[in-house]
Amino acid sequence: MAESLYKPLEFEQVDRERNWDDQIVFNGILFCLGSRHMPGAQNLPLWRTDGVLLTILLHAGPVEYLYYWLHRALHHHFLYSRYHSHHHSSIVTEPITSVIHPFAEHIAYFVLFAIPMLTTTLTGTASIISFAGYVTYIDFMNNMGHCNFELIPNWLFSIFPPLKYLMYTPSFHSLHHTQFRTNYSLFMPIYDYIYGTMDKSSDSLYETSLKRKEETPDVLHLTHLTTPESIYHLPLGFASLSSKPHTSHWYLWLMWPVTLWSAMLTWIYGRTFVVERQRFDKLRLQTWVIPKYSLQYFLQWQNEAINGLIEEAILEAEEKGTTTKKQKDDGKSPSCIWFFNGRGIHRHLFPHKPRR
Ligand SMILES: [Zn+2]
Ligand SMILES: [Zn+2]
Repeated sequence: MAESLYKPLEFEQVDRERNWDDQIVFNGILFCLGSRHMPGAQNLPLWRTDGVLLTILLHAGPVEYLYYWLHRALHHHFLYSRYHSHHHSSIVTEPITSVIHPFAEHIAYFVLFAIPMLTTTLTGTASIISFAGYVTYIDFMNNMGHCNFELIPNWLFSIFPPLKYLMYTPSFHSLHHTQFRTNYSLFMPIYDYIYGTMDKSSDSLYETSLKRKEETPDVLHLTHLTTPESIYHLPLGFASLSSKPHTSHWYLWLMWPVTLWSAMLTWIYGRTFVVERQRFDKLRLQTWVIPKYSLQYFLQWQNEAINGLIEEAILEAEEKGTTTKKQKDDGKSPSCIWFFNGRGIHRHLFPHKPRR
């Protein structure tokens, strides 16, 4: 992560990482067939403690162990050049890098993850929660490990030290993507400790990644949300929408529970947030989003709150060392800032009352 964080993301990688629907279709078909035709896979109870424990043990044991050795085999030049190099073409990982594999590798991974699910189904200990929980765990850990940003707090490892053998971190897996010959483990580093393939700099990289100071942007793009659905155009939303601003699609209606939640969170949190950090050569750019929707800009009673947020953002940026361009304050007209909101340049006026 130390080095990879500063390498740019190439267009070629973005294009390559957009094609991962093969595994969705493949997993969907297998789950569908399994739930219809597997004996014991119908009418599952909501919860069974024995099945949950069995899933945890089978994952920590056979799944992690077999994955470790499969992964080492995949780094043998015969398999590496034919298959696994595809995943490793991404040195700077993104969450979605986690599912970028050739189809043959997807099959192998599905077989591994099927061990706990098949065993619990066949022993009649499976439950809806053990299935949903296990699949969520796999996806969450996989995406988290590839996010190229250290977010696991230190206190978690201090209150329970053995956790470092049971849970990897983004910096741990980023070393596998930069060093190639270390940190092979799936989600539990214990097998790298046992077989001596643990990267020596894992701990120090973790510490320095956490301590890294937030970088100062050279250019700040201050923008705001447009509609509640505009969240799906953000990097965490649908990649295919990012090139079509201000468009709505019928399938976004299906997302209304998520949309509602996000609108409530935006209202409760109510603070400007960083949505993108980019780097063009030496120039660092950041996009900050003001948590107010387009409609609110037309409401008189929202003016003060919006102006407050804009002023706060500018002061914060200045504090960090970013220079913002403001119109000269001649004492009569209020200061103003120009900012781009996707539909055109908007000029927002705000009473300039310096706080320092
Ligand atoms: Zn690998
Ligand atoms: Zn990876």
